[in-house]
Amino acid sequence: MRKNNSCIALYTQYHWGLTSRQSLVFCNHDMININKEFCLGGHAVFTVQNDATGEHRTYKIKVSKPNPRYPNPAFFVGLLAGPDNVSSYQYLGMLNATTGAVTLTRKSRMTDDSKAVKGVRWTLAKIWNNLEIPEGIQVRHVGKCGCCGRALTEPESLDRGIGPICWGRLGH
Ligand SMILES: [Zn+2]
Repeated sequence: MRKNNSCIALYTQYHWGLTSRQSLVFCNHDMININKEFCLGGHAVFTVQNDATGEHRTYKIKVSKPNPRYPNPAFFVGLLAGPDNVSSYQYLGMLNATTGAVTLTRKSRMTDDSKAVKGVRWTLAKIWNNLEIPEGIQVRHVGKCGCCGRALTEPESLDRGIGPICWGRLGH
């Protein structure tokens, strides 16, 4: 895990009043850096990473366009389940914007027991209730490759700010 003493010091400062934006400049590990507003923004993509198991999953939350029949926006959660981190999202369920609860619907191909469902419910419950994300779990915004501008969702790519293809082109 990439954590050091300055990280911990800044983490403490975070609790003493630094805004998350200021803190993120210094360290984006082991902090709550995702909020409700981000999740409900309509284009939210985030990766949840478990350092202990090495597992990570990327979710996207989209919002419906209001129409006369459904005037209130609806929020749809998708799971990244393919090679293209912009388009390969599989529908997971619907998000209740008030409670942060994720409900499976008839179109969901996953069940309550799915790790992906449990994972997103756990994460959003933390965010909606302003609870600390435990050490060893990281919830991170989608990134952008510093070379080509493509979306970054893999923890390794998020760490270096460069996707695997560009990293390879650079001789790594
Ligand atoms: Zn790139």
